[in-house]
Amino acid sequence: MSECGCGSVCNAAPPDPRYRRALWIALVLNALMFGVELGASFSAQSVSLLADAVDFLGDAANYGVALFVLGLAPVWRSRAALWKGWVMVGYGMFVLGKSAWQWTAGIVPEPLTMGWVSLLALAVNVGVAALLFVHRRGDAQARSVWLCSRNDALGNLAVMGAAGGVWATAHGWPDIAVALVLAGLALTAGASVIRHAREELRA
Ligand SMILES: [Zn+2]
Repeated sequence: MSECGCGSVCNAAPPDPRYRRALWIALVLNALMFGVELGASFSAQSVSLLADAVDFLGDAANYGVALFVLGLAPVWRSRAALWKGWVMVGYGMFVLGKSAWQWTAGIVPEPLTMGWVSLLALAVNVGVAALLFVHRRGDAQARSVWLCSRNDALGNLAVMGAAGGVWATAHGWPDIAVALVLAGLALTAGASVIRHAREELRA
């Protein structure tokens, strides 16, 4: 998840109407899927699903920035990035805390919900990627759509793997292991977004 990741916030040109419409659809679907994964993570008691949900939140934020902030002064983009970075770090810490709690409490999540919801998440990510790819402008954007979707799909597949592991072992550790990896990625990505935004704001 780089600065130029999902949502192509690196592209400063104002998007054309068809691309704007695609961004709107991507924004709504990502926000919806954040809600779905968050709700399912609590009902199934799955921390890997909880960790995977942060990507939908981050992507929704990127599409929001591409739609509303890119036309404003660059300082607003940096402020939005700083805010997003802190949300990602806070969310990552929350996932770590909840993982520790579930580990000590010996909670076994519900693998069937994890499997279905991560499959739905994968379908939405692939659909959004196809939509943005159709309306892309230039190679840089095609590349960012590809990188973003690949990372998102890997996260979804990791949750599916965790679901399989929980189902096979009747233990919570595969769920926690995947949650720790995804939370670690969110923390490092959040930290680099904060560092980058601070540099921009200082300049
Ligand atoms: Zn993403």
